[in-house]
Amino acid sequence: MLLIPLREKNKILAQKSPIFTKKRLSWLIVLSSLPLFGIVTAFGIAPNTTIGDFSVESIVRELPIPTLTINTTNENLPFSRQESIQRGDTIATILSRMDVSREDTIAFLQAARESQAMRRLRPGQTVYANTTLAGELLMLRYFFGREELFLMEKIDDTFHMTEQAIELDVHIQMRTGVVNSSLFGATDNAGIPNNIATQIIDIFSSDIDFHRDIRKGDRFKVVYETLHNNGEQTKTGKILAIEYVNKGKPHQAIFYQAANGDSGYYTPDGESLRKEFLRSPLEFSRISSGFTNSRFHPVLKKWRAHRGVDYAAPTGTPVKATANGTVTFAGNQRSYGKLIVLKHNGKYDTAYAHLSRFAKGMRNGQRVSQGDVIGYVGATGMATGPHLHYELRVNGVQHDPAKIALPTAPAITENNLAIFKNETKSLVARLNILRNTTQIALRDEN
Ligand SMILES: [Zn+2]
Repeated sequence: MLLIPLREKNKILAQKSPIFTKKRLSWLIVLSSLPLFGIVTAFGIAPNTTIGDFSVESIVRELPIPTLTINTTNENLPFSRQESIQRGDTIATILSRMDVSREDTIAFLQAARESQAMRRLRPGQTVYANTTLAGELLMLRYFFGREELFLMEKIDDTFHMTEQAIELDVHIQMRTGVVNSSLFGATDNAGIPNNIATQIIDIFSSDIDFHRDIRKGDRFKVVYETLHNNGEQTKTGKILAIEYVNKGKPHQAIFYQAANGDSGYYTPDGESLRKEFLRSPLEFSRISSGFTNSRFHPVLKKWRAHRGVDYAAPTGTPVKATANGTVTFAGNQRSYGKLIVLKHNGKYDTAYAHLSRFAKGMRNGQRVSQGDVIGYVGATGMATGPHLHYELRVNGVQHDPAKIALPTAPAITENNLAIFKNETKSLVARLNILRNTTQIALRDEN
């Protein structure tokens, strides 16, 4: 069978609507001053004024457009720049885009050779720098890891590097959007970072297929965290509540952390959205060959059965464990090439074949959690092109993952339901507030 690796993710990202031709206004609802749980104090509000748990201030704000005011007469005047990290970027390519001189680039690389952060450049994150028109680099800042800051400063013509943990404040953002052609296009228009769009796909991954099911006119409301350092946004955090209306049907998810530390996304009724198995071991993928049970073909002398699912994806695409489990095999196995087999609860095993390489620490007995990256797509063994061959085995026999009913993660127990409802009611209320603002935003669109 011919397998054409599609750069599916890039295709999706490429569907982003052209930023500069689309409407530039988006609704931003500022709630950062409101506590998530608890009652808003009626400070500054006339006595006897009844307010609910929330007050919402809606403002229209322009999306930030990088503006540079350059005094062309002074080459040494510093100005600040922001550069978004692209797929495949190294720090050298980023410095080059910022027109940093060759001399400073070499000195920077030398000073940063022990840096952890420079090995963890994440596409979509931002690098902040001060440079001059002459190509001198004065300062470069990058937030990485959980709460860490990389800082390179030029002091007395020498670069000094520091990497340290920092304190971040959490702010709450609320946004709404309408899908026109793709989810990423819609989140872009609403000023929502890619990272949040990816989380939306993850949260609903067992209910909505964002390749095939999304429609023009789908709407969403999302409440999420942003992390700030000294008043400046450094990165986005997790989604706290989301409603996605797909083909007219609303899907809601609320983040909840129980007293024992377990956390996840639930419906407002306390049903878990997490299935014990992910729908797919790849984030973005296309099934290039489905599951068939046909038999050995006597004329073609070929096995025509295909007891797994093939996902076309470029070499190096991360492969995720579809469920919590333990590694029972990680090595080479003839036509499977580089193969990982995981054992899950009860009667289930999953297998991931043709990998180009394994993730760190993949060996017999290693425990993995659902969604952990265990290896990378490749074409080892008998493969005509890079793809992932994925098998789901029940009592050792391969089954079609699309056809068998897979167990779901446990719901909130009866005993804890009252606590759950009480602790999540403010998030549910926020989704309901956004219901009205969606219509305002829609009017603004026309
Ligand atoms: Zn296959």
